[in-house]
Amino acid sequence: MGRLTNKVALVTGASSGIGRATARLFAAEGAKVVVGARRSSELATLVAEIEAAGGEAIALAGDVQSEDYAKALVTLAAEKYGRLDVAYNNAGTLGEMGPTTGISEAGWNAALATNLTSAFLGAKHQIPEMLKHGGGSIIFTSTFVGYSFAFPGTAAYAASKAGLIGLTQALAAEYGAQGVRVNAVLPGAVDTEMYRGMNDSNESQTFVIGLHALKRVAKPEELARSVLYLASDDSSFVTGTASLVDGGASITRT
Ligand code: NAP
Repeated sequence: MGRLTNKVALVTGASSGIGRATARLFAAEGAKVVVGARRSSELATLVAEIEAAGGEAIALAGDVQSEDYAKALVTLAAEKYGRLDVAYNNAGTLGEMGPTTGISEAGWNAALATNLTSAFLGAKHQIPEMLKHGGGSIIFTSTFVGYSFAFPGTAAYAASKAGLIGLTQALAAEYGAQGVRVNAVLPGAVDTEMYRGMNDSNESQTFVIGLHALKRVAKPEELARSVLYLASDDSSFVTGTASLVDGGASITRT
């Protein structure tokens, strides 16, 4: 038996990186998975990969800034698979980086919309569906940046991701009695499109690697295993946490 057998899961930001690895792992552990992101071709490839491995998945492309899209993902899970047990709200963007005095209001708002408002909209529609069947597990992808590590030039990203921790705690307190657990995973650097886009030189990668006690960055699959823990009944008494999976970056100052 897989750890998510008979469960239905939803994963946003599934077209690449951590979300993609997590969707594959959820399916391998027995979940039926609804996958979302904007790039429909990447989602189609992912669904084909999951099916080829014997799993079950369906894709719906859209922008997580849209409440209609948040609702449509839940409706798809309910109509296609009959329920929703796990929601991994993972889509995110670095947004406008650089000196805070140079960040535009539009850039600030866009980072919050993709990283934080999307999580609120997702949970708003996911929770009622989870409650129909006794509860579920919601996971957000925050980050060590803005929590236990500060990088200059990351104001919008850090603020939006730190906001996810407040959202996590509020939702966990509000819905715990009804069986909905809510947790945030806080990765250190993970080797994905986002990481490579930000660290496109050997010098930059060496600097980031050096920030971690393990002296390497994570593979997306390593984050997926931590998310699986929070999604599954293995973490049945875990809620409201900010769960660092950061290779020791938070305890290291080099
Ligand atoms: P990634 O490979 O770039 O994945 C980002 C995902 O988010 C993609 O699937 C992207 O899909 C989706 N996305 C972005 N904006 C979206 C939007 N407006 N609507 C729908 N989907 C959207 O990077 P990743 O590292 O796996 O990032 C996943 C999460 O981990 C993010 O929340 C990120 O902030 C967080 N994180 C990453 C690191 C790291 O070092 N990589 C560290 C800490 C936290 P489309 O482009 O197809 O829409």
